[in-house]
Order: sequence, then C-alpha cells, then structure tokens
Amino acid sequence: MAQNEEKNIIIMGPPAAGKGTQSELIVKAYDLPHISTGDMFRSALKEQTPLSIQAGKFMAEGKLVPDEVTIGLVEERLAKDDCRKGFLLDGFPRTVVQAEALKKILEKTGRKITCVLVLEAEDEELIDRIASRRVCPKCGASYNLKTKKPKVEGICDNCGEKIILRQDDRPESFKVRLEDYRKKTLPLVDYYRKEGVVKEIDALDSIDNVFHHIQESLETE
Ligand code: AMP
Repeated sequence: MAQNEEKNIIIMGPPAAGKGTQSELIVKAYDLPHISTGDMFRSALKEQTPLSIQAGKFMAEGKLVPDEVTIGLVEERLAKDDCRKGFLLDGFPRTVVQAEALKKILEKTGRKITCVLVLEAEDEELIDRIASRRVCPKCGASYNLKTKKPKVEGICDNCGEKIILRQDDRPESFKVRLEDYRKKTLPLVDYYRKEGVVKEIDALDSIDNVFHHIQESLETE
C-alpha cells in the first residue's frame, strides 16, 4: 500500500496475539479511527439495552454474537465522517458472511479493504500469554503481567482502576474463542489472499518489532 493511499485496514489474529496493543500503535501512527467490535459490545453492555444483554450472553461464553447484530453495528460506524480517509477494523470481520457483508457496505461508497494484517502465533504460546493478560474494566487498557506491566501493581496507568482478568479470558471461554478463530476466522485469510491484500506478521516477536513489521507492510506495495 502506498503511503498516501486511503488506509482501510483489517487486523486479524487469534485471541491474545496482541491485536489490541498493535491496534493502539497503528491508529496513533496513522491517525485512524480504531473500530473494535469487541470494545463496542463491551461499552454497549454498560448501558444494558435488550440488544446488549443478548450480546453479553454470547460474549460471556466466548461465542460469536449473531451476524445480523454485529454487521448492523459496523455499518453504522463506518458511515461516520472520521472513517472517510481510512479506518482500522479490529475483531471484524470474523466470518466469511461478515466479510461479504463488509465488502457490500464499502462498495456503496466506492471503498475497499486495502490491507489485511494477520498476526500469527501457536496455540500453546497464546494460552500461556492469556494467563498473564489483565484489562482495565473502566478504560479498556490492556496489560500483561510479564511483558507490559502497569506502573503500580494491579492498577491501571491511565485511570487508576483495579485491573482484572477478562471473563472471556478464563480457560474454558478462551478455548472456545481459539477454536472459533481457527474454524471460522482463518478461512478469511484465504478469502482476502485472493484479493492480494494479506500481510502475515509473526506475533511472537517483541511489541516494537511486531509494530515495525506492520509499518513496513503498510508502507510498501
Ligand atoms: P474481542 O474483544 O474482539 O475478542 O471480542 C469479544 C467478544 O465480542 C467475542 O468473543 C464475541 O463474543 C464478540 N464479538 C466481537 N467481535 C465480533 C464479531 N465480529 N462477530 C461476532 N461476535 C463478536
């Protein structure tokens, strides 16, 4: 992708591959809106609407929220002005049905996906990582007790809230999410490979090195 082109990016990878951390770096460096369906569902949950309560049940078990709910949410978000010069989609699409819906949504405004970043890591490494992942329930910041510790133990650097283990990071839910990724989301890599936009990135490198590889992918054809 050339440097001045519209950056319509998808970041994909198994849970705990570092999508959240890398997404934060990407949106800052390229000044793009970060569209994370997981974050959107988590913040909707705080409002306890009938729809979010329904979504919350799927999320707590690590299951995917039904496509019609998720696709509608993304379509509304992509219609906002701040998405005109590009966006970073994180956690969407997760199925081929969602990818096809996304294509149609973008075509309506003459847009298309320009790059799909695929973070890669083995299951064993991810299971190990998840045991040390913590999040802030208030501002959503993400930490790792081994590689990205908060300055004060157990406390969020940004807002001072106590950091926690996410409910769907518990081993039983995490396993369902990993299986879902392998079964439903990995076929998307082939889907986008046909469009010539896939860039594979080794997610087991340091945060800085992974980001460096991402920048190279975004700034070269
Ligand atoms: P994430 O933070 O991306 O891991 O998402 C957390 C949870 O939100 C997932 O386990 C799903 O229950 C739900 N979710 C997020 N994105 C999607 C999506 N594209 N399709 C269906 N469910 C989703």
